[in-house]
Amino acid sequence: MTSIEQRIAQLRDEINYHAYRYYTLDDPIISDAEYDRLMNELRALEEAHPELITPDSPTQRVGAPPLDQFEKVIHPVPMTSLGNAFNDDDMRAWLTRIGRLLPEGVTTSDLTFVVEPKFDGLAVALTYENGVLVRGATRGNGIEGEDVTANLRTVKSIPLRIPVSPDGSAELAEVGPSPPARIEVRGEVYMPIAAFNELNRRQAEKGEKLYANPRNAAAGAVRQLDSRITARRPLAFFAYAIGYVEGGEEIRSQWEALDYLRRLGFPVSPDVRRSRDFDEVLDLIHRWMERRDSLPYEADGVVVKVDDFALQELLGVVGNAPRWAIAYKFPAREATTRLLKIEVNVGRTGVLTPYAVLKPVNIGGVTVRQASLHNFEDLARKDIREGDTVVVKRAGDVIPQVVKPILELRPPDSKPYQLPDRCPSCGEPVVKPEDEVAVYCVNAACPAQLVRRVEYFVSRGAMDIEGFGVKIAEQLIRAGLIRDVADIYYLTRDQLLSLEGFAEKKADNLLAAIEASKSQPLERVVTALGIRGVGSVVAKMLVAAFPSMDTLANATVEELEAIEGIGPHIAQSVVDWFSRPRHRQVIEKLRRAGVRMEAEVTAAPPSARPLAGLTFVITGTLPTMTRDEAKAFIEAHGGKVTSSVSKKTDYLLLGENPGSKLAKAQSLGIKIINEEELKEMVGG
Ligand SMILES: [Zn+2]
Repeated sequence: MTSIEQRIAQLRDEINYHAYRYYTLDDPIISDAEYDRLMNELRALEEAHPELITPDSPTQRVGAPPLDQFEKVIHPVPMTSLGNAFNDDDMRAWLTRIGRLLPEGVTTSDLTFVVEPKFDGLAVALTYENGVLVRGATRGNGIEGEDVTANLRTVKSIPLRIPVSPDGSAELAEVGPSPPARIEVRGEVYMPIAAFNELNRRQAEKGEKLYANPRNAAAGAVRQLDSRITARRPLAFFAYAIGYVEGGEEIRSQWEALDYLRRLGFPVSPDVRRSRDFDEVLDLIHRWMERRDSLPYEADGVVVKVDDFALQELLGVVGNAPRWAIAYKFPAREATTRLLKIEVNVGRTGVLTPYAVLKPVNIGGVTVRQASLHNFEDLARKDIREGDTVVVKRAGDVIPQVVKPILELRPPDSKPYQLPDRCPSCGEPVVKPEDEVAVYCVNAACPAQLVRRVEYFVSRGAMDIEGFGVKIAEQLIRAGLIRDVADIYYLTRDQLLSLEGFAEKKADNLLAAIEASKSQPLERVVTALGIRGVGSVVAKMLVAAFPSMDTLANATVEELEAIEGIGPHIAQSVVDWFSRPRHRQVIEKLRRAGVRMEAEVTAAPPSARPLAGLTFVITGTLPTMTRDEAKAFIEAHGGKVTSSVSKKTDYLLLGENPGSKLAKAQSLGIKIINEEELKEMVGG
């Protein structure tokens, strides 16, 4: 091996390991920036030596050129489906059935069961040869599936190579056994609910099609001919079975199989349980059902398996379902009710969105009064009308949605819904751009949009003005005290006191919070402006390149596009925003009010900054700074802050009531300093 090959191999191991810490264990030990640095180095080496690129390189997770169609894959071992149970009686009947098939001397009370969540995603089979992912296939009809290898490679929690390689240090050596010659790992690709909601929020903002549920979104992404699109979808993976294995450890039970998968570096649900007591199994199921809404992913049931592989074999398969496993399906979370009225909401960017006002209905223990209708196109396609009886679905944290009307129950005098031609808030005519499904109100003075803009401006990730909720925003706008977001900084005590519900204390608190927000860093101010496509991450990148509002406002599309991570759409959107005279006025008003218009970073080059090259970890409560402030302080002086202690940490910044990081730092002999000492390091 040449030294370049060695370095490439080392980088891949390190990156794979850190991706595993991040995506599978949710416990990263290096910063995002450090991770990007490793990735950039690998990318540069591979660019210079393209002959060294292999499919298992982490750089290959970005997707490959689109396919015309998927190749078919015959599963070496069929992917069976499961029999269903809908209540405890069904479960007991299953137990009785298998009891009759057990060998002499063995009764059902000798059985051990493994209880697993039933993920609502897409079942896939991953084949690894000598530890390298060589094929990923969908379940299909169980006998024949589709080859979606390129797509599954982009799913970050699917290891490209197993076991996830330790980089040699003792801390990492615990990770895995040696890889079997060949193994087929089965599991579910799914979309976490939070990621699903975020995806739909972005789709809505762009006026694009919304996904009905996380399952559809995940399935659509996996069965996408262009894997570069799959790569942009927030997919995750849980392994739950071994299809077959050649070589490797001897595995005698499902419980051992899950443990083996975990040690190879696969994500396995932390919620899997094992029990010898069937009543306890039923208890677990009931508890699951109650917790269903609080899970970060959608589960549509629980799978119960006989643990012992020898007994599994003996019980066998009937039809295409194994006798030794059963799926307890949770009750459907749909209900029918009357759709009383279709109303329209106006978003921050002026997008009009329809929603349904329902006759209140109980779904899974929650009263639902309103439901999403996605967008006008979807509404028209399904021909949902006021007065219809509709199917409403509610699942997890997903907003309840109208699935479809029940046509048989439609009143004879019903009429198709008419697209509004005027904004329901300001009454101005609406606009429908040809290439979008969205309908907009383009009136810059539209009160509904202003409420959303103010709500966003004061929100946690933006200017973070405490106590400034949507109710107050509506009240101030109705009273004519706020016409744009900058007016927030010109509110007076007398004005607030003239409003209903404002006593002196409340007014003073609000004014103090507004005053405090003036010192928010520039990236927060840029975020708060609500420029389309510019969230907190993009704002940070913009400010890093243009450290003052004026330079940013005068940047050209070309200059913005030159920033790593900024694409043409965002660049154009930023230029468009600053080109509007109204927006320039808002900026001037914010400036006059004393809102920060410059980044804090010192002008000195990075190497001249006192903390350059040093890595800090913060633990405990500091005397005068919050953690975010301390982080900003360190970064402003050229240092770096990571979330956990490792050999690469230079200093632990210690506050009161420190966590486990203190012991870790002491054991590694890392220097420990307090806030005062930190300040001394930068010269006061
Ligand atoms: Zn309007």
